[in-house]
Amino acid sequence: MNTAKELAKRGVHILRAGIWKPRTRPNGFEGKGSVALQWMVKAREASGLPIATEVANAQHVEACLNAGVDVLWIGARTSVSPFAVQEIADALKGTNVPIFVKNPMHADLSLWMGAIERVRSTVEGPVWAIHRGFSQYGQKEYRNAPMWEIAIGLKMAMPEVPIICDPSHIAGNRSLLHPVAQKAMDLGMDGLMLETHPDPQNALSDANQQLTPAAFGDLIESLTIRSASAPKISSADLTALRLQMDSIDEQFIELLHARMDLARQIGLHKWEKGMTILQMERWKEVFDTREKWATRAGLSPEFIQNFLEQVHKESIRVQNEEMTSKISRS
Ligand code: PEP
Ligand code: MN
Repeated sequence: MNTAKELAKRGVHILRAGIWKPRTRPNGFEGKGSVALQWMVKAREASGLPIATEVANAQHVEACLNAGVDVLWIGARTSVSPFAVQEIADALKGTNVPIFVKNPMHADLSLWMGAIERVRSTVEGPVWAIHRGFSQYGQKEYRNAPMWEIAIGLKMAMPEVPIICDPSHIAGNRSLLHPVAQKAMDLGMDGLMLETHPDPQNALSDANQQLTPAAFGDLIESLTIRSASAPKISSADLTALRLQMDSIDEQFIELLHARMDLARQIGLHKWEKGMTILQMERWKEVFDTREKWATRAGLSPEFIQNFLEQVHKESIRVQNEEMTSKISRS
């Protein structure tokens, strides 16, 4: 109630709260269940804000529709499953409650689009997407890799679907919320979903990423919202910059082509010497040196690492092709 009232003063449009919380392992805080629906209704009365919660099956949908919840969202652990999404879509048939569809846990644009399509095929109301980043193995800077290109891919494939960014689940940590939220605004995202708690450290879930309502207000105030209709550079400048970028990309592709040619030659050599394609030591050395060069050039090592992984995958494919053609000829 405290959070709801405080947020209403700070220009929030919708109040979100998880009632059924899908936890990775049992014994975490799994939410209060249906009893909390009435608490949310009370929070709506006290704050004047529409309320939203996560639904993961048909019973959740039914309970929310009965309680008059204003907005429902499908979580990242649910949007991975076409069966679960279809069950929810069927339970929503003919209603016009706005639905938010979070991106699936793993980086799969089609799966995200598929979930949106299933919901759109049964509900009459608006369907929005939520970009909350993608699960990754191991401890990384972000709790979930943002992979902005996938959100941009959705924008391009479904321009009519507004996208809300969820910096809380991308960052996983208060200190990273601002840059993620700013980036979302710079990319023209249509809104933000942020977790708040009056006493963040003692929150029952995701304590590290919670903000007090006051800190939430400060974060929103500190964002620079650039308007698409007030460009900072004239269109002539923009054209010149784009032409330079085209030329760099062209050179880039030529360099990649030359690199693949070398990979082919190395593949041939490995075949002649009876070596395996994947040479772990060499790969590690490539990785370490490039990471150093990236840091020196002020590029993010994470970006270069992802980029090199793709290049390496293609080199292996090319070398495999080379060896297979040698074997079939010999
Ligand atoms: C949430 O929104 O609190 C949540 C559980 O998020 P996600 O489905 O993105 O993990
Ligand atoms: Mn959460």
